[in-house]
Amino acid sequence: MRLVLVGPPGAGKGTQAEVLSSKLGVPHISTGDLFRSHISQQTELGREVQDILDAGALVPDAITNEMVRERLAEADTDNGFLLDGFPRNVAQANVLGEILAAQDHALDAVIEFRVDEDVVVERLLARGRTDDKEEVIRHRQQVYRNETAPLLDYYADKVLTIDAVGEIDEISERALKALRELGEK
Ligand code: AMP
Repeated sequence: MRLVLVGPPGAGKGTQAEVLSSKLGVPHISTGDLFRSHISQQTELGREVQDILDAGALVPDAITNEMVRERLAEADTDNGFLLDGFPRNVAQANVLGEILAAQDHALDAVIEFRVDEDVVVERLLARGRTDDKEEVIRHRQQVYRNETAPLLDYYADKVLTIDAVGEIDEISERALKALRELGEK
């Protein structure tokens, strides 16, 4: 199964991605985690992107797309993947479409985790990552609205919208149910 997860920062996407990845048996690919791992290992890429992550801005598409292209060339993605945090804008979605078309593959679904902005800002302030300062959080929400939310139109025929307020298990069950229903169509 080839899935993309979309939702504002703080919607619990990462947590849901972990649960869904293990239930569906496909790797969880988080571009945010990949960047943070480069930063903690102080690679050249890590040094290049650190200030961008700290500011809550998007890493340039050329860098991000290349990293994803390499990751999707690895064998563990042959039977599917769950992308968390990519694509983040329409240009990245076009590149993803090209990568998949070259493999004769297509996305099965895009799962949108929907939650109110007030709720996510509170959640993020409680999380305490280095890019979780209030002004950075607000900036990331704005980036989501302007750059990422248009993906919901772009992928209109593939979007499954899930209410992301509730217990972790409850939310993943909603997503799994939506995927099961998709399989029955
Ligand atoms: P996340 O862990 O998904 O919240 O991502 C953390 C940060 O990594 C974002 O605020 C961006 O700076 C960067 N990032 C993650 N994914 C992308 C992407 N697809 N395109 C550009 N920047 C990204």
